[in-house]
Amino acid sequence: MSQRQINILFLASEADPFVKIGGLGDVAGSLPPAIFDLSNDSVKYDIRLALPFYGVIKKKLPNLSKIGDFPLHTGGIIIQTSIYEHTLNGIPVYFIDGTPIKENDPVYGSNFVADAEKFVFFSLACLELPRFLKWRIDILHANDWHTALAIHQLSTQAVFRQSSPVPKKIITLHNLPFMGAGSEDALTRFGIEPADDPHLPTWARTIPLPMGLASADRIVPVSRSYAQEILTPDFGCGLESFFKSRSEKIMGIINGIDGSVWDPATDKFIKNNYNNESLTGKSICKATLLNEVGLQNQPHTPLIVLISRMDQQKGVDLAINSLKMIENQRWQAIILGSGDSKLENAAQDLENALPEKVRVKILFDSALSHRMYAGADIFLMPSRYEPCGLSQLISMRYGTLPVARSTGGLKDTIIDVDKHGHGTGFLFAEATVNETAKALKRSIESYSQQEKWNSLIKNAMVQDFSWKKSAQEYCTLYQNLIE
Ligand code: ADP
Repeated sequence: MSQRQINILFLASEADPFVKIGGLGDVAGSLPPAIFDLSNDSVKYDIRLALPFYGVIKKKLPNLSKIGDFPLHTGGIIIQTSIYEHTLNGIPVYFIDGTPIKENDPVYGSNFVADAEKFVFFSLACLELPRFLKWRIDILHANDWHTALAIHQLSTQAVFRQSSPVPKKIITLHNLPFMGAGSEDALTRFGIEPADDPHLPTWARTIPLPMGLASADRIVPVSRSYAQEILTPDFGCGLESFFKSRSEKIMGIINGIDGSVWDPATDKFIKNNYNNESLTGKSICKATLLNEVGLQNQPHTPLIVLISRMDQQKGVDLAINSLKMIENQRWQAIILGSGDSKLENAAQDLENALPEKVRVKILFDSALSHRMYAGADIFLMPSRYEPCGLSQLISMRYGTLPVARSTGGLKDTIIDVDKHGHGTGFLFAEATVNETAKALKRSIESYSQQEKWNSLIKNAMVQDFSWKKSAQEYCTLYQNLIE
């Protein structure tokens, strides 16, 4: 039997371990290798990842060799583009460099204009990549607004228009409200025509994400619930009618987590490894963590953690105010995150008000996040909306039970603990301080019944959050699209 090959170019603005800001980084660093691993005798998935060559990556990989240059011609301007190559668990990774990617700029800045230039350039340069590599693509797979223009522009490129069959276009939707607004000038400069889809509202026709969505053969929100939610005004961000017009092209696929990075049995960042059969290591991780942050070691007090971007979306304000509301109960808490300075200050104020109970770390620290997932008892995640969410998957993997709002991917992955003590976490419906506090109290009450709690931990730890099933769903999607 001859082996068929499917060539996939996977575009992302971040991918762990090269650069990670949030969940997209986890996904783009682990999904492509998981898809590659599903290659078998009948089909080979030749999936390759492209990333912008940010200054932070250059510092991490100073000796990377350049494989070539080409001039990118677009809208009457020419940008010299360089390609660097690396590998990630067996798959090729291409880093794309050019003047719009500034050495000292953050991955995502507050300067919309600079971000637009960078990601428009990156999206266009990626479309040149197959020709440069002399590698035909069957599937172009983009993620979020940063790479959505590649989907929009593909049909304008003669090289693809004339290729037979024309590559199929998929866009995975991790965060709808971030659409790339403010890119209009960059689009004009780069000579990109607006979208002309009559189902798109006029305002959306010059914004990268909706432009890409309008041209995509498939739109993949990162959970089934979120795929439904975006059809409603509460979550659709003004595109709900457009999404309804595309409903047959929308297919929710839940994200997985990388078992080689997130596994308490092998994690190199934690003091003591453990598994669902022996939780002693987890208690040692807790004591070590409390000691590290300077909180008193109280083994029978539940330790609540929050690890998150400091953003309205994540309900960090709800977390802080609900902890205040239950300040007289027995608990300790550690908050790790950075972002919105108002939320950072509010978290800091909580530590100042409750120094015996609370520690706050305003930074991005992957190693500390591992120690917190392992050492905590309860993971607080009161998101206002959550397309998928990875943190709750990681926390359950580490036997740290989530207290989370019942929305999007949280609703699809956490089983609410029922009155018989079955479940994997504590869900609540409304994004209010009261509801968050009530769910927290429920978890604290449950924690006090140690035997039941241990069985909940084990329940959570044995759930399968690996990529296996979801990567297979992407493979099936690729196959269906090209058949
Ligand atoms: P989002 O992508 O919306 O930020 P997710 O839950 O999908 O949220 O993924 C967040 C990822 O980023 C998780 O891996 C989480 O552990 C990590 N993370 C968030 N904030 C921090 C931080 N301050 N330090 C270390 N890791 C963080």
